[in-house]
Amino acid sequence: MRLDIVTLFPGICAGPLRESIVGRAQERGLVDIRYTNPRDFTDDRHRTVDDTPYGGGAGMVLKPEALFAAVEQVVTAAAYVVLLSPQGQPFRQETARRLAAMTHLVLVCGHYEGVDERARQVLFDAEISIGDYVLTNGTIAAVVVADAVIRLLPGVLGTDESSEDESFGRDGWLEYPQYTRPAEFRGMRVPDVLLSGDHGSIEHWRREQSLVRTAARRPELLQRRFGDRP
Ligand code: SAM
Repeated sequence: MRLDIVTLFPGICAGPLRESIVGRAQERGLVDIRYTNPRDFTDDRHRTVDDTPYGGGAGMVLKPEALFAAVEQVVTAAAYVVLLSPQGQPFRQETARRLAAMTHLVLVCGHYEGVDERARQVLFDAEISIGDYVLTNGTIAAVVVADAVIRLLPGVLGTDESSEDESFGRDGWLEYPQYTRPAEFRGMRVPDVLLSGDHGSIEHWRREQSLVRTAARRPELLQRRFGDRP
């Protein structure tokens, strides 16, 4: 996958996307991440990318000229262009799966009070929100989306780290509780079933725990899956 991030702050991405699984995915050529800064598309001495809102009010708005130029520079025929925005559709695992199927993804980050509305009208295929709160800038949201998408690309996770067998995976539920050695720690024991070696019982226990946990913490996930069935 080619992944372009259009941002005034490429430095915010550098740390998180250079480390660990995502960093290795780049080294192995599974994802090609490129950064484009709208400020590089300005032609005034101060490299101005923002201006006051028409009609007055607090804050500044990202001007259309440099933003259009930056996005148009990276777009290809295959590109799917997403604006990170608190007003977008909520980002979920199913969104990450859909984006992971793209060959070219462009994530565009707003700043200040957001982007000029004319950019919204024509530049983007979708707007995505990572939650019902307001960040200062879209770059942190882009890093969240990039991480969730890249780990789903073929070959990025090891064969023993299936993305289907975790929260929001195959059945859409939360994952069961996980334990590792030692079998007893500060008086707390690992459930006997996990030490039994009986794979059928372990599978049954995990499924049950997954259901109990989902019902207790996120009942709407069960509703989302079964709610529309008679
Ligand atoms: N004035 C805007 C509003 O009320 O909808 C908020 C602008 S916010 C301060 C600046 C930028 O941060 C946005 O343009 C967007 O790119 C990004 N951003 C903020 N919250 C976000 C969220 N929850 N999800 C995705 N992007 C977000």
